[in-house]
Amino acid sequence: VLEGVQVSCWFGARKVLEGVDIKMDAGVVTALIGPSGCGKSTFLRTLNRMHELVPIATLAGSVLLDGHDIYGAGLRLTEVRRRIGMVFQKPNPFPAMTIADNVAAGLRLTGRKVRDRDDLVETSLRRAGLWNEVRNRLGAPAGGLSGGQQQRLCIARSLAVSPDVLLMDEPCSALDPTSTRRIEETILELKDQVTIVIVTHNMQQAQRVSQHCAFFLAAEDEPGRVIEQGPTEQIFSDPHDPRTADYVNGRF
Ligand code: ATP
Ligand code: MG
Repeated sequence: VLEGVQVSCWFGARKVLEGVDIKMDAGVVTALIGPSGCGKSTFLRTLNRMHELVPIATLAGSVLLDGHDIYGAGLRLTEVRRRIGMVFQKPNPFPAMTIADNVAAGLRLTGRKVRDRDDLVETSLRRAGLWNEVRNRLGAPAGGLSGGQQQRLCIARSLAVSPDVLLMDEPCSALDPTSTRRIEETILELKDQVTIVIVTHNMQQAQRVSQHCAFFLAAEDEPGRVIEQGPTEQIFSDPHDPRTADYVNGRF
């Protein structure tokens, strides 16, 4: 279980996120939706300390992984990154590295033994739904794969270090509909093993893959906030806030 508690974020003097409380339960896919610029990616990045790469970013609130603050002294940064993986909008495998080496790239984080490697590569590729397509070309450079395959390779690379949580920031928005469906199927297959949080602008996708949904909105010159959250079914069929209703019905 991953939990954001009163998470606020500033870039320099500008506050972009205000008091976000979201509990992301195991076995549940959580979708973050809302218009461009409302802070979805910023929130996602606070969930594995990725915003620390932005020097002007500051944070308030806390993020709890199974009750432990990921910003606290008890969890090392490498352990946070191993346990909370991230997949980005644009697939970012190491293009000149082989497919197998890409999957194994995170192993240094875990200190696993090398003799596990082939097994782990196969298992991870299977979990990401890519094994059958690449089993005969594991030694080929990852750059030769299609965009959708590259994205599934990135998912396999994340899975190889046995994360508890997988954060996905618009993982399908650079992909064609067929590749998108493959990734959605993969998400649904993984959801009982890995806590998944997905940012998406695709309302059908949010409904297909998520069970919990949080709607973010930033009024003009205001930080982004969660306006409403709840079971995905309720957010789409019976939104309580008129702004949620407008957004999920495509009115802004
Ligand atoms: P989109 O749907 O377009 O991806 P988003 O909801 O993910 O939007 P964020 O990328 O989180 O929105 O941005 C929230 C706000 O923070 C925006 O106003 C953006 O301009 C600002 N912002 C994001 N990253 C930075 C940064 N590195 N430096 C300064 N401002 C930033
Ligand atoms: Mg974004």
